[in-house]
Amino acid sequence: MKEQDIRPADIFARYLELAKQDAHDFFQEQGRFVAVACPVCAEDRPRDAFVKDGFSYVVCQACGSLYNTPRPPLDMIGRYYEQAPSVKYWATDFYKATEAARRESMFAPRAAHLAGLARDYGMEGGSLLDLGSGFGILLEEVAKTGAFAQVRGVDCSPDLAAVCRDKGFEVIGKNVEDLTPADGPVDLAVSFEVLEHLFDPAVFLRGAGQVLRPGGLLLLTTLTSDGFDLRLLGPHAKAVQPPYHINFPSRAGLERLLARSGFKLLELTTPGRLDVDIVRNTLAENPAIELDPLWADLVGSEDEKLRAGLQEFLAQNRLSSHLMLLVAKEAA
Ligand SMILES: [Zn+2]
Repeated sequence: MKEQDIRPADIFARYLELAKQDAHDFFQEQGRFVAVACPVCAEDRPRDAFVKDGFSYVVCQACGSLYNTPRPPLDMIGRYYEQAPSVKYWATDFYKATEAARRESMFAPRAAHLAGLARDYGMEGGSLLDLGSGFGILLEEVAKTGAFAQVRGVDCSPDLAAVCRDKGFEVIGKNVEDLTPADGPVDLAVSFEVLEHLFDPAVFLRGAGQVLRPGGLLLLTTLTSDGFDLRLLGPHAKAVQPPYHINFPSRAGLERLLARSGFKLLELTTPGRLDVDIVRNTLAENPAIELDPLWADLVGSEDEKLRAGLQEFLAQNRLSSHLMLLVAKEAA
């Protein structure tokens, strides 16, 4: 998989341009922004990191997570997700252009991974809930594996919920934060690339805990501040994209977040495949970025085998920005 497949350069550039404009247009009332303690470990010991598109990012000195504070209040974020042109562009042009590639290179492998978990953890024939089911691509791919008897989604957007229902899936039309035990019980809940967007990840995790049976599993992915491109590129990393990405949890912070949300950590991996490609492309697009020359040489190398080896090394040593957690709900 290459970055170009899932984010064609021209379409992604247009999206980033719209997002930048939206970040300005929708968030002018900075006086309404709310200062928050670390959304990952809950301590309040920030150190200034940088400002991007008018949003301040800090590093938590207790756990190392990178996060935006002060941040827009929930109603401002809600209006943004309902009305912003970049959100519409993502949901229509951008998504359509990349759906086939995403299905093949992201969703089918995720579904295969989930089917493997069902086998490994004795959940075959059980129930799966996708927290943020969007266009239902993951639901379709998981259903194809036949590993689960029940495959459902949660999505607060009525339009997206309707898309999934048209495909024959049951969708709970709520925010994950508002789930109750009556929406469960669920054997395996999954949340791909959601945590980095949330005003309060702990409230989200508590919602997920409401629908899981005791001992039920939650698979989560997120971007991490410990990852390769964030550590090398800082504010230049394309992943630092306000107002979408406002939390970049560190590994240490995640362990604390899980513990205080009633989950036990089973597996922590960084199966990322794009870090080297993303840094390479970012440097090519913006040669003014000053990077340590050794790293610049490695990611800029024409030797594809070397780059693949470097990516493999990052993934295996928990150094990719793309982090995956498997956690279990603690028995009450
Ligand atoms: Zn922290």
